[in-house]
Amino acid sequence: LERSRPSNESSACDVGAHQKLVAGYSEQLTAIRQADGDPAVVFEEVLTGMIAANDRLQERLEAAEQKIKAQAEEIHSQQSEARSDSLTGLANRRAFDQSLVESARRLKLERRPFSLLLLDIDNFKQFNDIHGHLAGDEVLRCVGRTLSGLMRAGDFACRYGGEEFAVILSGATESTSKATAERIRTAIERMQVAFDGAPLQVTVSVGVAQGQAEESESQVIRHADAAVYASKKAGRNLCHFQLATGCMRLERVAGGQPAASLAGRRLKNLA
Ligand code: GH3
Ligand code: MG
Ligand code: MG
Repeated sequence: LERSRPSNESSACDVGAHQKLVAGYSEQLTAIRQADGDPAVVFEEVLTGMIAANDRLQERLEAAEQKIKAQAEEIHSQQSEARSDSLTGLANRRAFDQSLVESARRLKLERRPFSLLLLDIDNFKQFNDIHGHLAGDEVLRCVGRTLSGLMRAGDFACRYGGEEFAVILSGATESTSKATAERIRTAIERMQVAFDGAPLQVTVSVGVAQGQAEESESQVIRHADAAVYASKKAGRNLCHFQLATGCMRLERVAGGQPAASLAGRRLKNLA
C-alpha cells in the first residue's frame, strides 16, 4: 500500500483523492488484525478496491498527459505563427529583430561576422495600380520563395514589412555578402510570376551593410537602408554596399535593365 502511494503529491489531477482512498484501505487492512472474520476475504476486497482506484487514477493521468501535450503543441504553433508572415510564409519583423540581436551578439563575443541585406521592390505601387493588389500579393509570395531558395544554413530571410524584405547572412564576409546580394537581385529580376495566365516581372533595389562590433543593431539597419536609397537613386534594380566612407555600387554580374523600364511590364507569350 505504501508503495502504491503516489510519490509526488502534486503530480496529477485527483491525486489527493486517490491518496485518501489508499489511506482508507490502509486503515481497513490494519483493522483486519483486530477484527473477527476471514482476513483473506477482507484482504481481497481491499485489493480489488485498490486496483480499481489505481486504474481510475491511471486513466486520469493519461488524459492529463494528452491535454498537456496538446497544449504544448498549441503553444508551439502559436509561437511560430507569431514569428512568421502569413502572406509569404517567411519570418516576420519580430523574428528579424531577435535574429539581428543574436547576430550582433555573436559578432561581439565570437567575432563571427554577419551582413544585412535590405530589399525593396521597385515601383511596387505602380505595379499594384496596373495589375491589381492580388497580383502584387502573388509577387510578394514569389519573392519569398525565391529568397528561401537562395538561403544557406544559418542565413535568415524575412518580410521586413510591406514590399520590403531583409536577409541576415551569418558568417558572411564583405565579398560573400556582395556576391549574395547580386545573386538575389538577379534571381528576382529573372523571376516570372504567373498570374491570370501571364508572367509578370519585378525588380528589387538592394542595400548591403556589414555588421560592425562597435555599432548598434539600429546602426546596421540605417546603413543598409542608406544603401537601398542609393540603389533607388541610381536607377533601381541595383545593389549598393554601405561603407564608412559612403555607398559603393556593386557591378551587375548579369546584364539587367533599369527597373523603371521593367516594373509593371506584362510579358506576353514568353513560353
Ligand atoms: P520604390 O521603387 O521607390 O520603392 O517605389 P514603390 O512604389 O515600391 O514604393 P512606395 O513606398 O511608394 O509603395 C509601396 C507599395 O507597396 C504600396 C503598397 O500598396 C505596396 N504594398 C505594401 N504591402 C503590400 C501587400 O501586402 N500587398 C500588395 N499587393 N502590395 C503591398
Ligand atoms: Mg518601400
Ligand atoms: Mg518599393
